[in-house]
Amino acid sequence: MLDTIWVEARRRLRSELLDKDYDTWIAPLRAARWSADTLTLEAPSGIARDWLRQHFLPAVERAVSEASGGRATVLLLVNRELSVPARAGALPARRAERATNGAPARYTFDNFVVGEANRVAYGAARAVVAQPGARFNPLFLCGGCGLGKTHLLSAVAAGLAHARPLGTVVCLTAENFVNEMIAALEARRMERFRRKFRGVQTLVVDDIQFLAEKRRSQEEFAHTFNALHESARQIVIASDRAPHDLPGIGEALRYRFASGLLAHVRPPDAALRRALVERKASGLGVSLTPEVASYLAEEWCANVRELEGALTRVEAYASLSGRSVDLALVREALGPSPVARRGPTVQRIIGEVCQHYQVARDELSGPRRTARLAVPRHLAMYLCRQHTDVPLARIGAELGGRDHSTVVHALGAIERRLEKDATLREAVSLLRARLGA
Ligand code: ADP
Ligand code: MG
Repeated sequence: MLDTIWVEARRRLRSELLDKDYDTWIAPLRAARWSADTLTLEAPSGIARDWLRQHFLPAVERAVSEASGGRATVLLLVNRELSVPARAGALPARRAERATNGAPARYTFDNFVVGEANRVAYGAARAVVAQPGARFNPLFLCGGCGLGKTHLLSAVAAGLAHARPLGTVVCLTAENFVNEMIAALEARRMERFRRKFRGVQTLVVDDIQFLAEKRRSQEEFAHTFNALHESARQIVIASDRAPHDLPGIGEALRYRFASGLLAHVRPPDAALRRALVERKASGLGVSLTPEVASYLAEEWCANVRELEGALTRVEAYASLSGRSVDLALVREALGPSPVARRGPTVQRIIGEVCQHYQVARDELSGPRRTARLAVPRHLAMYLCRQHTDVPLARIGAELGGRDHSTVVHALGAIERRLEKDATLREAVSLLRARLGA
């Protein structure tokens, strides 16, 4: 959604503004977040942000409103990481070729944080740069949004373009491929288009799912693919899904996509989330207390883009308010986390209850019935009942294998106890606050 809106808004701005204004002020912006009809854009410096605010904000807001189909607001923040040249994948094809040729890129192998979730994808991408066309051809990266596919693709393109002649490495989105093809068809320049793509040494194509339902483009892409593959030239593709689940893409093409190495980028596990929080915070020059780092890793790290957006807002909020980055500030700056907004899960409730009563998770979920565990266990059942839609039988199963009627009994016991036990009432309100319930 974010990308779609910003791509469309940029297209409108490009046709509306002078080229030099567009290139100087709009092109370097990065769309960080779309939520509640507000688009957060990051500018590379305070000067750029102020200039945009004074001169272009109404035009940008109008373009974003038109692109999103409703009244939209634009929030401008500063992200100093953007002051190095923009990444290749986000640029139109011609500029992407130039950008990948020698310029220091924002997306490199060095600033990619590696963990279990992306180790294979990362290793394969490096292997492709070391020996293009040799081992993994095509390299097909797939995974959800914000998990580093474009980052790896850009690092491959930059790594290969380095010290190679201009135009031999082409890195573009499938959307740009389609647009170039349409323009070539209209201008009756298909021969030139074919020569260009079939003549490259390496073709890097992002967001291949865009070819869905575009039969003519798929056909053209298949010809390009075959020509390159037959002569052992490297192809790297990224997609939001694995080849066999790409809807609207012909079987023959899906089969070709799957004929090399398929590498997944998966959502980060706890260790990778922690490493990402640390690297991204230090990149922004923000120092975090262990408590804040854990909170961000737990609640704001479903994908890396979400984490980057959160850190940028925290940094802006801290520097504007002159306060230091503690948990209170972070919660204020970010509001309820996506995890909290989805509502607590049974596992989160169990986790919080365990922490509050200092009992181990396997004790609470295990079969032992000691008096010490009774209250925490019943309370966990009570909170699950109140704050999730999970059926009683499953709540019982997660908490010591109790059946439905035992859970009903436990709920009654807690309710009676709450009337006379102030400590328990306090525990309930504290736990609710922690769970954001
Ligand atoms: P995708 O293309 O999979 O949607 P991107 O490559 O655009 O995701 O990544 C989104 C943001 O998160 C980018 O700014 C990227 O640099 C960052 N990012 C993603 N994964 C990592 C990682 N493992 N290490 C460092 N940065 C990452
Ligand atoms: Mg991407």
